[in-house]
Amino acid sequence: MSTNINNNGLPNIDDLQNLANELFKALPNEFPKEISLSPDKAEHPRATKIAETILQTGHVDPLDQHPLAIPSNVQPAQHSFSGFGVSPSVLNYGNTGASALYPNAGAGFDPQSKNSSSGVQENHDLNINDPHTGFHDINLNNGSPQLSEESIFSSLLLNNQYLPFQTQNSSFEIELQAALASVDTQFKKRDDNPFNGNDSGASYYFLEQNPFAFDRRSTDIVVGNSFDAKEINLYKGHHFNAELVKKDFPILRETVNGKPLVWFDNAATTQKPQSVIDRIAYFYEHENSNIHRAAHELAARASDAYEAAREKVKAFLNASSVNEIVFVRGATEGINLVASTWGEQNLNSGDEIIVSNLEHHANIVPWKRLADKKGLKLRVIPVDDDGQILLDEYAKLLNSKTRLVAFTQVSNALGTVTPAKKIVEMAHAAGAKVLIDGAQSVSHMKVDVQHLNPDWLVFSGHKLFGPTGIGALYGKEDLLNEMQPYQSGGNMIQDVTFEEIKYHKAPNRFEAGTGNIADAIGLGAAIDYVTKLGIEAIGQYEHYLLEYATRLLKEISGVRLIGTAKDKASVLSFNLQGYSNDQVGQALNKEGVAVRTGHHCAQPILRRMGVETTVRPSLAFYNTTQDVDTFIKTLWELKKVKF
Ligand code: PMP
Repeated sequence: MSTNINNNGLPNIDDLQNLANELFKALPNEFPKEISLSPDKAEHPRATKIAETILQTGHVDPLDQHPLAIPSNVQPAQHSFSGFGVSPSVLNYGNTGASALYPNAGAGFDPQSKNSSSGVQENHDLNINDPHTGFHDINLNNGSPQLSEESIFSSLLLNNQYLPFQTQNSSFEIELQAALASVDTQFKKRDDNPFNGNDSGASYYFLEQNPFAFDRRSTDIVVGNSFDAKEINLYKGHHFNAELVKKDFPILRETVNGKPLVWFDNAATTQKPQSVIDRIAYFYEHENSNIHRAAHELAARASDAYEAAREKVKAFLNASSVNEIVFVRGATEGINLVASTWGEQNLNSGDEIIVSNLEHHANIVPWKRLADKKGLKLRVIPVDDDGQILLDEYAKLLNSKTRLVAFTQVSNALGTVTPAKKIVEMAHAAGAKVLIDGAQSVSHMKVDVQHLNPDWLVFSGHKLFGPTGIGALYGKEDLLNEMQPYQSGGNMIQDVTFEEIKYHKAPNRFEAGTGNIADAIGLGAAIDYVTKLGIEAIGQYEHYLLEYATRLLKEISGVRLIGTAKDKASVLSFNLQGYSNDQVGQALNKEGVAVRTGHHCAQPILRRMGVETTVRPSLAFYNTTQDVDTFIKTLWELKKVKF
């Protein structure tokens, strides 16, 4: 809104009034919405008061028609008008130098001078970026009179002048302070909160006292889509700003039951960054075609993008060749592929397969079915009460009949990180092949197949911030080429006659039919995203977040943490005394916190730990300590109700 300046150098009264009313309309409801600076139009008593004061002060010449007209003995000046108020100089008349709104500010103020001794600058040009205001505005210090708020209010009160929404006894400011003080903006310590007075002494809920809140301390590093590789290398492993990372995930801006979504179901599936969503949309907008078969531009684009994604998986796992990367639907399909190809071909009655007690059903059922069908023996590596693999017991299971060891690198139910390299070495020493289930590990730690040296490794894209329906099977190239095809049809053959069929080598040999092209490309984008953040930085940040959450969870009596291995990733399985797991899940859902409750497709390990089901929050790098606080707070509320 602009104000017209009269030829006497003052703003038009109607403009001023409109300006004031715009301001009042923007104020909360209890404040007056209309004022008039003209006494006969004044609708509000306090507005009238101000208007009267202004008019009285300005009425130097009773013959003057305009109430704000400058007396003839004052040099007209161009004044600055901006923001909420009127420059003090507007209200400064005659040689007295007195200001109506700043009655005490007059001393030493020289209207002829550009700079007053009270610090008021007379800027003759209207400059919106350098506003000069008459009403004190803490947001607009630049160029304002150097008066304390207190002195302004006391001078107003002294002179019986009030701002429109002030009362005589308490300033708006004081009222506001009082109102704010009565609002509980913090998660205060409660009497039953264990942080009160025990060893830790301090609450961990807020920044300063939180030894693990790297996400809140590290505002100095920008990560997300906008960082560059140099920055990341510099800070990798030291700082991680989860708040910024969160912004890359549009779904994390959702609200659930009116609360911001806290996604703690990452072991089931992860959320997708914008870059992955955009990449898939781009494919359908610009590249969509079947691959390999057609000799046209879009087929070439689609084929290039699909094979580029395979390159990305290869680099991500540090495989030796792209021929070692087979696109599958996910970890489940990868395991089934190995069971129904290599397993069918090579295992015979009396042979033994070893799995661990920690396995997901996906790494039990295919082997159990094969064992039942072929008369194989399925043997199980036991775990201790913390859920850790017992390596010496494993050593006892290995023998000359052992043909395969299939185990998970991270347990989806307990979070246990298994000693993968050791397990592989021991299996190979016994002459067995090894399959690693990497479904829960690839998103939390560097998984290097040349270092770990398994024969196969599987993972799912949707647990790695990529799309569902896509994943990868890594296999040693020679081994893959020795394996019979999994499914058969188009795409996997070199030549077909009714007499004989020649198959492609890996990976095409295992990719019969039209694959999930768009989602393979989306998985490539997810790998790009994770690689940019740095998997080591992710692992380190999540480690602190897990420690933070574990520590808080352990403080709640009635919580039984299930899975307390020394080396853990992401998962916090627990039961809460007095509540079913579903009740806990529902209470958390009410607060916007998504956790999984149930057996997590890992019944053998839960039964080993003496339970049928658990509540399972599982963390990812976009989770923050504030998310953990919301979760912990809800559990405290539940606990308070029962005991
Ligand atoms: N293994 C583990 C350890 C898992 O956590 C999961 C998924 N929960 C799977 C295998 C199966 O993954 P998917 O359903 O994506 O095939």
